[in-house]
Amino acid sequence: MISRETIHATAFELNRLAAIQIPGDARQAVGRMYKRETNKISKYVLGQILENYRIAVDEQRPMCADTGLPRFYVKVGNEAAVEGGMVALEGAIRQATAEATAAIPIRPNRVHPISRHDYNNNVGVHAPTVDYSFEPNVGWLELTAVHKGGLFGGDYRMLFPADGIPGLKRFFLDCISEFFRRGMSCQPLVVGIGIGGTKDTCVRLAKEAGCLRIVGDRNPEPEIAALEEELLQLGNSTGFGVMGLPGDGAIMDVHIEIAYAHTGGMPVAIQHFCFAHRRMSARIEGDGSVHYREDPGWFTPFYRRDSVGFEELEEQEA
Ligand code: SF4
Repeated sequence: MISRETIHATAFELNRLAAIQIPGDARQAVGRMYKRETNKISKYVLGQILENYRIAVDEQRPMCADTGLPRFYVKVGNEAAVEGGMVALEGAIRQATAEATAAIPIRPNRVHPISRHDYNNNVGVHAPTVDYSFEPNVGWLELTAVHKGGLFGGDYRMLFPADGIPGLKRFFLDCISEFFRRGMSCQPLVVGIGIGGTKDTCVRLAKEAGCLRIVGDRNPEPEIAALEEELLQLGNSTGFGVMGLPGDGAIMDVHIEIAYAHTGGMPVAIQHFCFAHRRMSARIEGDGSVHYREDPGWFTPFYRRDSVGFEELEEQEA
Protein backbone atom coordinates (compact mmCIF):
# COMPACT_ATOMS: atom_id res chain seq x y z
CA MET A 1 0.00 0.00 0.00
CA ILE A 2 1.42 3.39 -1.00
CA SER A 3 0.67 5.89 1.74
CA ARG A 4 -0.81 9.33 1.24
CA GLU A 5 2.09 10.80 3.21
CA THR A 6 4.64 9.25 0.82
CA ILE A 7 2.81 10.76 -2.16
CA HIS A 8 2.63 14.13 -0.40
CA ALA A 9 6.33 14.16 0.52
CA THR A 10 7.35 13.04 -2.98
CA ALA A 11 5.17 15.65 -4.69
CA PHE A 12 6.67 18.36 -2.49
CA GLU A 13 10.23 17.26 -3.28
CA LEU A 14 9.45 17.04 -6.98
CA ASN A 15 8.18 20.62 -6.93
CA ARG A 16 11.39 21.71 -5.20
CA LEU A 17 13.70 19.87 -7.56
CA ALA A 18 11.79 20.93 -10.68
CA ALA A 19 11.92 24.61 -9.72
CA ILE A 20 15.66 24.62 -8.99
CA GLN A 21 17.49 21.88 -10.85
CA ILE A 22 17.29 21.95 -14.64
CA PRO A 23 17.72 18.36 -15.94
CA GLY A 24 21.02 17.29 -17.46
CA ASP A 25 19.69 16.72 -20.99
CA ALA A 26 18.53 20.36 -21.27
CA ARG A 27 21.68 21.75 -19.58
CA GLN A 28 23.88 19.81 -21.99
CA ALA A 29 21.79 20.90 -25.00
CA VAL A 30 22.18 24.56 -24.04
CA GLY A 31 25.91 23.92 -23.47
CA ARG A 32 26.25 22.53 -27.01
CA MET A 33 24.38 25.54 -28.42
CA TYR A 34 26.71 27.86 -26.51
CA LYS A 35 29.78 26.18 -27.98
CA ARG A 36 28.62 26.42 -31.59
CA GLU A 37 26.96 29.86 -31.44
CA THR A 38 28.89 32.43 -33.51
CA ASN A 39 26.76 35.52 -32.83
CA LYS A 40 28.48 37.42 -30.03
CA ILE A 41 25.36 38.64 -28.20
CA SER A 42 23.51 35.32 -28.52
CA LYS A 43 26.57 33.50 -27.22
CA TYR A 44 26.73 35.87 -24.25
CA VAL A 45 23.04 35.24 -23.44
CA LEU A 46 23.50 31.45 -23.68
CA GLY A 47 26.45 31.75 -21.32
CA GLN A 48 24.29 33.69 -18.86
CA ILE A 49 21.57 31.01 -19.03
CA LEU A 50 24.17 28.35 -18.17
CA GLU A 51 25.43 30.53 -15.33
CA ASN A 52 21.86 30.94 -14.13
CA TYR A 53 21.42 27.14 -14.07
CA ARG A 54 24.54 26.87 -11.89
CA ILE A 55 23.58 29.65 -9.47
CA ALA A 56 20.09 28.21 -8.97
CA VAL A 57 21.58 24.91 -7.76
CA ASP A 58 24.37 26.54 -5.73
CA GLU A 59 21.95 28.84 -3.93
CA GLN A 60 18.97 26.41 -4.01
CA ARG A 61 16.69 29.02 -5.54
CA PRO A 62 14.24 28.76 -8.46
CA MET A 63 15.95 28.97 -11.82
CA CYS A 64 13.60 31.66 -13.18
CA ALA A 65 11.69 34.38 -11.31
CA ASP A 66 8.59 33.32 -13.24
CA THR A 67 8.19 29.84 -11.85
CA GLY A 68 5.60 28.96 -14.49
CA LEU A 69 2.53 26.86 -13.80
CA PRO A 70 3.19 23.82 -11.59
CA ARG A 71 1.46 20.72 -12.94
CA PHE A 72 1.69 16.98 -12.43
CA TYR A 73 1.65 13.92 -14.64
CA VAL A 74 0.77 10.72 -12.82
CA LYS A 75 1.26 7.26 -14.27
CA VAL A 76 -0.66 4.71 -12.25
CA GLY A 77 0.31 1.05 -12.25
CA ASN A 78 -2.74 -1.15 -12.71
CA GLU A 79 -1.83 -3.13 -9.59
CA ALA A 80 -0.99 -0.06 -7.44
CA ALA A 81 -2.76 0.17 -4.09
CA VAL A 82 -3.02 3.76 -2.90
CA GLU A 83 -4.11 4.69 0.62
CA GLY A 84 -7.37 6.63 0.23
CA GLY A 85 -7.49 5.97 -3.53
CA MET A 86 -7.14 8.49 -6.34
CA VAL A 87 -9.00 11.23 -4.45
CA ALA A 88 -6.37 11.06 -1.69
CA LEU A 89 -3.58 11.01 -4.28
CA GLU A 90 -4.81 14.19 -5.93
CA GLY A 91 -5.41 15.77 -2.52
CA ALA A 92 -1.78 15.04 -1.59
CA ILE A 93 -0.57 16.67 -4.83
CA ARG A 94 -2.67 19.79 -4.22
CA GLN A 95 -1.49 20.04 -0.62
CA ALA A 96 2.15 19.59 -1.66
CA THR A 97 1.81 22.27 -4.34
CA ALA A 98 0.34 24.79 -1.89
CA GLU A 99 3.07 24.06 0.68
CA ALA A 100 5.86 24.15 -1.91
CA THR A 101 4.63 27.52 -3.19
CA ALA A 102 5.20 29.01 0.26
CA ALA A 103 8.30 27.06 1.25
CA ILE A 104 10.56 27.08 -1.82
CA PRO A 105 9.16 29.70 -2.60
CA ILE A 106 7.62 29.59 -6.07
CA ARG A 107 5.57 32.44 -7.47
CA PRO A 108 1.82 32.04 -6.88
CA ASN A 109 0.95 32.43 -10.56
CA ARG A 110 -2.49 30.84 -10.57
CA VAL A 111 -5.36 33.34 -10.43
CA HIS A 112 -9.08 33.38 -11.25
CA PRO A 113 -9.19 34.22 -14.99
CA ILE A 114 -11.75 37.04 -14.61
CA SER A 115 -11.62 38.37 -11.05
CA ARG A 116 -7.85 37.68 -10.80
CA HIS A 117 -8.47 36.35 -7.29
CA ASP A 118 -5.36 34.61 -6.00
CA TYR A 119 -5.15 32.08 -3.15
CA ASN A 120 -1.38 32.65 -3.24
CA ASN A 121 -0.70 28.94 -3.35
CA ASN A 122 -0.97 27.88 -7.04
CA VAL A 123 -4.15 25.95 -6.18
CA GLY A 124 -7.61 26.76 -7.51
CA VAL A 125 -10.21 25.50 -9.95
CA HIS A 126 -8.45 22.91 -12.15
CA ALA A 127 -5.15 24.01 -10.64
CA PRO A 128 -2.66 22.45 -10.46
CA THR A 129 -3.38 20.50 -13.63
CA VAL A 130 -3.05 16.76 -13.00
CA ASP A 131 -2.99 14.36 -15.96
CA TYR A 132 -3.14 10.59 -15.62
CA SER A 133 -2.10 7.59 -17.63
CA PHE A 134 -1.99 3.90 -16.74
CA GLU A 135 0.46 1.04 -17.05
CA PRO A 136 -0.45 -2.68 -16.96
CA ASN A 137 1.07 -5.35 -14.70
CA VAL A 138 2.94 -3.03 -12.29
CA GLY A 139 2.25 -1.82 -8.76
CA TRP A 140 4.08 1.51 -8.75
CA LEU A 141 3.09 5.15 -9.16
CA GLU A 142 5.17 7.56 -11.21
CA LEU A 143 4.88 11.30 -10.60
CA THR A 144 6.35 14.01 -12.78
CA ALA A 145 6.26 17.67 -11.77
CA VAL A 146 6.49 20.19 -14.60
CA HIS A 147 6.69 23.93 -14.02
CA LYS A 148 5.65 24.99 -17.48
CA GLY A 149 6.83 28.37 -18.72
CA GLY A 150 6.63 29.76 -22.22
CA LEU A 151 3.13 31.22 -21.83
CA PHE A 152 3.10 32.67 -25.36
CA GLY A 153 4.63 29.77 -27.25
CA GLY A 154 1.69 27.66 -28.36
CA ASP A 155 -0.69 27.50 -31.29
CA TYR A 156 -3.16 25.18 -33.04
CA ARG A 157 -4.18 24.84 -36.69
CA MET A 158 -6.64 22.49 -38.38
CA LEU A 159 -4.97 21.39 -41.60
CA PHE A 160 -6.46 19.30 -44.36
CA PRO A 161 -4.88 15.96 -45.27
CA ALA A 162 -3.89 17.55 -48.61
CA ASP A 163 -1.78 20.12 -46.70
CA GLY A 164 0.41 17.20 -45.66
CA ILE A 165 3.98 17.67 -44.48
CA PRO A 166 4.48 20.93 -46.46
CA GLY A 167 1.49 22.43 -44.60
CA LEU A 168 2.89 21.22 -41.31
CA LYS A 169 6.25 22.85 -42.07
CA ARG A 170 4.55 26.11 -42.97
CA PHE A 171 2.65 26.14 -39.66
CA PHE A 172 5.87 25.29 -37.80
CA LEU A 173 7.70 28.20 -39.43
CA ASP A 174 4.75 30.58 -38.94
CA CYS A 175 4.76 29.68 -35.25
CA ILE A 176 8.50 30.27 -34.94
CA SER A 177 8.38 33.62 -36.71
CA GLU A 178 5.38 34.73 -34.65
CA PHE A 179 6.87 33.93 -31.25
CA PHE A 180 10.65 33.81 -31.69
CA ARG A 181 11.13 37.24 -33.25
CA ARG A 182 9.77 38.83 -30.07
CA GLY A 183 11.55 36.41 -27.74
CA MET A 184 8.11 35.60 -26.34
CA SER A 185 8.70 32.01 -25.34
CA CYS A 186 12.27 32.39 -24.04
CA GLN A 187 14.47 30.45 -26.44
CA PRO A 188 16.34 28.15 -26.58
CA LEU A 189 13.51 25.70 -26.10
CA VAL A 190 12.06 22.34 -26.99
CA VAL A 191 9.22 22.34 -29.52
CA GLY A 192 6.50 19.78 -28.88
CA ILE A 193 4.16 18.98 -31.77
CA GLY A 194 0.92 17.03 -31.63
CA ILE A 195 -0.46 15.75 -34.93
CA GLY A 196 -3.92 14.24 -35.21
CA GLY A 197 -6.49 13.21 -32.65
CA THR A 198 -9.30 15.47 -31.56
CA LYS A 199 -8.42 19.11 -30.90
CA ASP A 200 -7.99 18.57 -27.16
CA THR A 201 -5.90 15.41 -27.62
CA CYS A 202 -3.76 17.18 -30.23
CA VAL A 203 -2.96 20.08 -27.89
CA ARG A 204 -2.37 17.73 -24.95
CA LEU A 205 0.06 15.61 -26.97
CA ALA A 206 1.98 18.69 -28.12
CA LYS A 207 2.52 19.71 -24.50
CA GLU A 208 3.46 16.21 -23.40
CA ALA A 209 5.87 15.89 -26.36
CA GLY A 210 7.56 19.14 -25.36
CA CYS A 211 7.65 18.55 -21.61
CA LEU A 212 7.93 14.80 -21.08
CA ARG A 213 10.63 13.57 -23.46
CA ILE A 214 14.33 14.19 -22.96
CA VAL A 215 16.44 16.08 -25.49
CA GLY A 216 17.71 13.64 -28.13
CA ASP A 217 14.84 11.18 -27.71
CA ARG A 218 13.22 10.08 -30.98
CA ASN A 219 9.71 8.85 -31.73
CA PRO A 220 9.70 5.06 -32.32
CA GLU A 221 8.03 5.47 -35.75
CA PRO A 222 10.94 5.99 -38.18
CA GLU A 223 9.03 8.45 -40.38
CA ILE A 224 8.07 10.57 -37.37
CA ALA A 225 11.63 10.41 -36.02
CA ALA A 226 12.95 11.59 -39.40
CA LEU A 227 10.45 14.46 -39.36
CA GLU A 228 11.63 15.46 -35.87
CA GLU A 229 15.20 15.68 -37.19
CA GLU A 230 14.12 17.57 -40.29
CA LEU A 231 12.12 20.17 -38.36
CA LEU A 232 14.98 20.60 -35.89
CA GLN A 233 17.36 21.39 -38.76
CA LEU A 234 14.77 23.60 -40.48
CA GLY A 235 13.98 25.56 -37.33
CA ASN A 236 17.64 26.12 -36.56
CA SER A 237 18.38 27.39 -40.07
CA THR A 238 16.05 30.37 -39.87
CA GLY A 239 18.57 32.82 -38.37
CA PHE A 240 16.77 32.97 -35.02
CA GLY A 241 18.96 32.65 -31.97
CA VAL A 242 18.12 32.99 -28.28
CA MET A 243 15.52 35.42 -26.90
CA GLY A 244 14.60 36.90 -30.29
CA LEU A 245 18.22 37.70 -31.17
CA PRO A 246 19.84 36.66 -34.43
CA GLY A 247 21.90 33.52 -34.06
CA ASP A 248 22.73 29.98 -35.11
CA GLY A 249 19.77 28.29 -33.46
CA ALA A 250 16.96 28.61 -30.94
CA ILE A 251 15.68 25.04 -30.69
CA MET A 252 17.11 22.33 -28.43
CA ASP A 253 14.95 19.62 -29.97
CA VAL A 254 11.67 18.85 -31.72
CA HIS A 255 9.42 16.10 -30.38
CA ILE A 256 6.34 14.87 -32.23
CA GLU A 257 3.51 12.70 -30.99
CA ILE A 258 0.63 11.46 -33.14
CA ALA A 259 -2.93 10.32 -32.59
CA TYR A 260 -5.30 8.82 -35.11
CA ALA A 261 -7.37 11.66 -36.58
CA HIS A 262 -10.69 12.17 -38.37
CA THR A 263 -10.21 11.12 -41.99
CA GLY A 264 -11.11 14.63 -43.15
CA GLY A 265 -8.52 16.53 -41.13
CA MET A 266 -4.94 16.79 -39.92
CA PRO A 267 -4.99 18.89 -36.76
CA VAL A 268 -1.62 20.16 -35.57
CA ALA A 269 -0.71 21.77 -32.24
CA ILE A 270 2.63 23.30 -31.26
CA GLN A 271 3.89 23.96 -27.73
CA HIS A 272 7.16 25.50 -26.56
CA PHE A 273 8.96 24.41 -23.38
CA CYS A 274 11.35 27.26 -22.58
CA PHE A 275 14.95 27.11 -21.34
CA ALA A 276 13.57 27.09 -17.78
CA HIS A 277 13.10 23.43 -18.54
CA ARG A 278 11.63 22.44 -15.22
CA ARG A 279 10.65 18.83 -14.81
CA MET A 280 11.49 16.06 -12.35
CA SER A 281 10.11 12.56 -11.94
CA ALA A 282 9.91 9.86 -9.28
CA ARG A 283 8.70 6.30 -9.04
CA ILE A 284 7.02 5.23 -5.80
CA GLU A 285 7.24 1.48 -5.49
CA GLY A 286 4.55 -0.59 -3.84
CA ASP A 287 6.75 -0.89 -0.71
CA GLY A 288 6.91 2.91 -0.41
CA SER A 289 10.51 3.36 -1.60
CA VAL A 290 11.01 6.41 -3.83
CA HIS A 291 13.45 6.71 -6.76
CA TYR A 292 13.98 10.14 -8.33
CA ARG A 293 15.04 10.51 -11.96
CA GLU A 294 15.15 13.11 -14.73
CA ASP A 295 13.54 11.11 -17.56
CA PRO A 296 9.74 11.06 -17.10
CA GLY A 297 9.38 7.84 -19.12
CA TRP A 298 5.84 8.95 -19.95
CA PHE A 299 5.61 7.59 -23.51
CA THR A 300 5.64 3.85 -22.88
CA PRO A 301 4.68 1.31 -25.59
CA PHE A 302 1.40 0.85 -23.74
CA TYR A 303 0.69 4.59 -23.77
CA ARG A 304 1.30 4.69 -27.54
CA ARG A 305 -0.56 1.43 -28.23
CA ASP A 306 -2.53 1.17 -31.48
CA SER A 307 -4.21 -2.19 -30.86
CA VAL A 308 -7.69 -2.88 -29.52
CA GLY A 309 -6.30 -4.42 -26.34
CA PHE A 310 -2.80 -4.72 -24.97
CA GLU A 311 -2.44 -8.49 -25.13
CA GLU A 312 -0.32 -8.15 -28.30
CA LEU A 313 2.10 -5.92 -26.41
CA GLU A 314 2.33 -8.40 -23.57
CA GLU A 315 3.09 -11.21 -26.02
CA GLN A 316 5.85 -9.14 -27.64
CA GLU A 317 7.42 -8.44 -24.26
CA ALA A 318 7.23 -12.09 -23.11
S1 SF4 B 1 9.13 31.67 -20.58
FE1 SF4 B 1 10.40 30.38 -19.23
S2 SF4 B 1 12.39 31.43 -19.02
FE2 SF4 B 1 10.88 32.90 -19.86
S3 SF4 B 1 10.08 34.01 -18.06
FE3 SF4 B 1 8.67 32.28 -18.46
S4 SF4 B 1 9.44 30.59 -17.20
FE4 SF4 B 1 11.10 32.12 -17.30
